[in-house]
Amino acid sequence: MTSTSRLRPYRLAAAVAALLLLVAVAAVTVFGVRLLTESNRWVEHSHRVIGQLESSQWLLAATQAAGRGYRLTGHPSLRSEFDRAGPQAVAAARELARITRDNPAQHARAKVLLQQSTEQVRRMQELADIQDRDGPQAAVAAMRVNEMVERMHGVNAASEALRAEELRLLEERRATNARHSNLLLGFVLLSLAISLATFWTLLVSLSRENSRNRKLERETRGALDDLKRAQTMTERLSAQRWALSEYTGMLQSAQNLDEAMELTSRTFERLLPHLGGQCYLGRGSRDLLESRSSFGRPAIASADVLAPAECWALRRGQPHHNQAGAGVRCAHVDHGASMAGLSTLCIPLSAQGETLGMLHASGPADGGEGDNDAVIIELLGEQLALAIANLRLRETLRQQSLRDPLTGLFNRRYFEESLRREMLRCERRRLPLALTVIDIDQFKSFNDNQGHSAGDAVLAQVGRCIASLVRAEDMACRYGGEEFTIVMPETELESALARAEAIRRAVSQQTISHNGRTLGPVTVSMGVAVFPQDGVTPELLFEVADAALYRAKAEGRDRVLHADADADANAGVPAR
Ligand code: GH3
Ligand code: MG
Ligand code: MG
Repeated sequence: MTSTSRLRPYRLAAAVAALLLLVAVAAVTVFGVRLLTESNRWVEHSHRVIGQLESSQWLLAATQAAGRGYRLTGHPSLRSEFDRAGPQAVAAARELARITRDNPAQHARAKVLLQQSTEQVRRMQELADIQDRDGPQAAVAAMRVNEMVERMHGVNAASEALRAEELRLLEERRATNARHSNLLLGFVLLSLAISLATFWTLLVSLSRENSRNRKLERETRGALDDLKRAQTMTERLSAQRWALSEYTGMLQSAQNLDEAMELTSRTFERLLPHLGGQCYLGRGSRDLLESRSSFGRPAIASADVLAPAECWALRRGQPHHNQAGAGVRCAHVDHGASMAGLSTLCIPLSAQGETLGMLHASGPADGGEGDNDAVIIELLGEQLALAIANLRLRETLRQQSLRDPLTGLFNRRYFEESLRREMLRCERRRLPLALTVIDIDQFKSFNDNQGHSAGDAVLAQVGRCIASLVRAEDMACRYGGEEFTIVMPETELESALARAEAIRRAVSQQTISHNGRTLGPVTVSMGVAVFPQDGVTPELLFEVADAALYRAKAEGRDRVLHADADADANAGVPAR
C-alpha cells in the first residue's frame, strides 16, 4: 500500500487544520496590521514631539533674536517681530506640553520648558517695554543677563533631555515596529507555507487516490468483461454440447446416409456458422471419395471427387490443419486461391479401422475460436463416422434379410411386401402393374444329371440375367427353388410381355459354365398377369400369373403366356 492510503484517515483532519491555520493567518494579519498601525502612530507621535520641540526652540530663538535686535537698533519692525514670535514660542511650548501628556517624564520636561520659555518671553517683554518707555540704556540697565542666560540654559537642557528621550523612544518604537513586522511576516509566511504544503499533500494524495481508483475501475471493468466473455463462452459451449448430443441422438435414428448428411449439414451450420465445408463419403468402389453434402459458405473451394491420396488427413489417418504459412495444402483444396487469412481442416471419418469418408471445413483464420472449432469438427466427425458405419451395417443386414444370397435377387418375403405395396400405390394412382412368374424348365433332371452345385450355378446365372434386363423400378425376386417373379409397376400388358420375352430369349441364348464345363442350354417358362384386369388382390394376381405359367409348361415350355382367366379357370390349374 502507498503512503496515500496511510494518509487517508488523517486527510479530513489535515484539511481542517490547514483551513484553521489559514483563518489564524487572517486573524493574526488583521491583529498585526492593527499593531503595526498603532506602532506607527507612536513613531509618528515621537516625530511630532521632536518637530514641536524644534519649532518651540526655533520660535524662542527667533523671539530672543528679535528682542536683542530691537534693543540694539530700536527698529520698530523688530519690535513687531518680537511681539509676534514671543506668543508663538509660548504657544509652541504649551502645545509641546499638551502632546507629551501621555508620558509623565516627558510631560514634566515639557512643562519646565514651557515655564522657562514663558518666563524668558515675559522678561524680554518687560525689557522691550522699558526700552519703549525709558530708552535703550534703561532697558540694558534693567537687564539681568546672568539670570536670562541661566534660564536659557535651563530651556536648552530641558529641550535636550526631552529630545534625547524622545529620540530614544523613537528608536525603541521603530525597533518594536520592525520586530512586529518581522514577526507578522514570519508568521504569515510560515503559516501560508504550512497550509500550502498541507493542501499540496492533500491534493497529491487525492490525485493519487483518484488515479488508483480509476485504475481499479479499469481493472474491475476488465474483470467484468472477462467474466462476461467467459459466461458467453460457457453458454456457447453448453449450447454446443447440447446441439452435439441432440445431433448424436438424431444420427442414431437416421434411416439412411442422406438423412445423416442432412443432419450433419444443419448441425455444422448451427454450431459453426462462420465456417463452410463438405462431407465426402467413399464410393462403392472405395477408390474415390465424393462430396455428399456441403454446408455454410466455404472460404476456399475443394474438389467434388477426390482420391484418398489427395488428402493428407486420409493419408495419415488423422486431422490435417492448414493455414497460410503453416501446414501443407491438400491436393483437393483449390491451389489457385490464396490462403491469406484462411484456414482449412480435414478430418478423416473412420470406424473400426475402415476409412469411410472425410469432413472438410474452411473459414477465416481468426473468425472463430480456433481449437474449440477443431474440437467440435472432430466430435462431429467421430459421431458421423459411427453413424455411417452403423447405417452401412444396417443396410447390409437389411439387404441380407431381403436378398437371396445365391442369385442376389430379392427374396420371397420382399416380393410379397413389395407386390402388396406397389399394387396399393398403382391402385391409388390408377396405374397398371404387371407380374411375371418364371420357372426353369426341367430343372430337376438338370440337377440330377449335372449335380446340385451345377444347378446352383444355373440359378445364379439366370438370376443375373433377369436382374440385368429389368428396369431400376422393377423388383426381380427369387420366389423359391428355381422359380422367379418380377413385379413391374406402371407397366401395361404389352410391355410386360415384351420384357418377359426378352428375358426368355436371353436365358436361352446364354452359355453357362461350371467348374470348367459348359453346361447344357437352359430355358424358362413364364406366365404374365396384369393388374387390375387379371386380379385385384396380390394373391389372385399371383394365382393367375402362375396359372399362365402352368399353361406355358403344358404347352411345351420355353415360352411366355399371358393369363387367360377363362381358359385357366376351365383348365382347372392345380395348385403348385
Ligand atoms: P418343370 O419343367 O415342370 O418345372 O420341371 P422341373 O424339373 O423344373 O420341376 P420341379 O419343380 O419338380 O423341380 C424343381 C427342382 O428344383 C427340385 C429341386 O431339386 C430343384 N431345386 C430347388 N431348389 C434348388 C436349389 O436351391 N438348388 C438346386 N441345385 N436345386 C434346387
Ligand atoms: Mg418349379
Ligand atoms: Mg421347373
